[in-house]
Amino acid sequence: MNIRELPQSAVDHLVEYNEHEAVYELYDKASLPLGFIAVHRKNVDVPSMGATRLWYYTNPTDALRDALRLSNLMTYKAAAAELPYGGAKGVLMMPAQGAIDRRQFFTNYATCVNELQGMFVTGTDVGLTADDLAVLVEYSPYMIGYGVDAAYYTSIGVLHGIQAALQYLDHTDELFYKRFALQGVGKTGLKLLQLLVEWGAREIIISDINDAAIEQARAIAPFARVVDPQLIHTQLVDVFCPCALGGILNTTTIPELRCRAVVGSANNQLICEEDALALFARGIVYIPDYIANAGGLLSVVSQYENKYHDVEQVVARLNRLQRRIEEIITQSSIHQIPTTMIAQNFVYA
Ligand code: NAD
Repeated sequence: MNIRELPQSAVDHLVEYNEHEAVYELYDKASLPLGFIAVHRKNVDVPSMGATRLWYYTNPTDALRDALRLSNLMTYKAAAAELPYGGAKGVLMMPAQGAIDRRQFFTNYATCVNELQGMFVTGTDVGLTADDLAVLVEYSPYMIGYGVDAAYYTSIGVLHGIQAALQYLDHTDELFYKRFALQGVGKTGLKLLQLLVEWGAREIIISDINDAAIEQARAIAPFARVVDPQLIHTQLVDVFCPCALGGILNTTTIPELRCRAVVGSANNQLICEEDALALFARGIVYIPDYIANAGGLLSVVSQYENKYHDVEQVVARLNRLQRRIEEIITQSSIHQIPTTMIAQNFVYA
């Protein structure tokens, strides 16, 4: 695997391009693309951060677009979480045929990341395991999150978002009588399920495209009802929690929602800003994804800044984030505009 910077002309025709700082292509011996690293914003003297995803893409352009979109989101996430870092993202394409030698693959990727000399700091997103991160850490000093349960802290932030939404809607953050629908019970969805159960939720509906994930969820919440993944967003619940991939909130699904709030860990839940307007018009409280799920970033950043995982610092920052979420909901209600428009002020402040 090799790395080269793409000229602006190779990316600026894509709608996801937003004056990115730099976009790099990862390619093989035959010069075929293996993935991309997009650096959206670079702040002085600090790196740009964003985890690395390994996923199935039908073509390299889709992977590039995902990298552009996700890196943009990371800039928002860092700003909303009051962190000084720029936003970036690594996106790797799962080879279409045959199993990959993961150790070799991630050793090569780590070497490419090293060529950016610390401008890009990364960790694990969808498709990467703790074992993959162990390899990355072995070969690159620019990998973070090893030994940190980022999914847990992500889910704590999502729980805070759920509680803030319920407090606004019902003047109580009590979960006992509330109904929840979880899309995706992977790393973050499973942790969120556990937290919902611990906080007293008893009416939970789940879906996943992976049967093994459903089995793990059943072990945590035997009472949870499992539905077809196509139908999870249509369930009559108080809170819909998207914890799988992006794009679940769109012109088709929003009219089908039967919830009062949407709060989840998935990145890029909305297809476009008009979707936030549509949610608002329906009276559904939407906690912007990059704020609801910033707990994972907060946890790995703590390790980066302190060289160890400072739990107290992470909890304090998560509590600040919760107050920010409450403020966003309040301001959205006062000014009668979507929460996404209020949240943008943190980035442009
Ligand atoms: P994961 O891969 O561990 O889990 C995702 C789960 O969703 C898997 O079980 C998968 O089978 C399932 N899934 C995929 N498509 C689905 C569909 N159409 N319907 C139902 N289930 C489906 O990933 P994760 O780490 O839990 O991340 C989930 C989302 O949260 C991603 O968008 C990720 O970018 C975001 N996120 C994760 C973290 C983190 O700490 N892991 C932090 C911030 C944001």
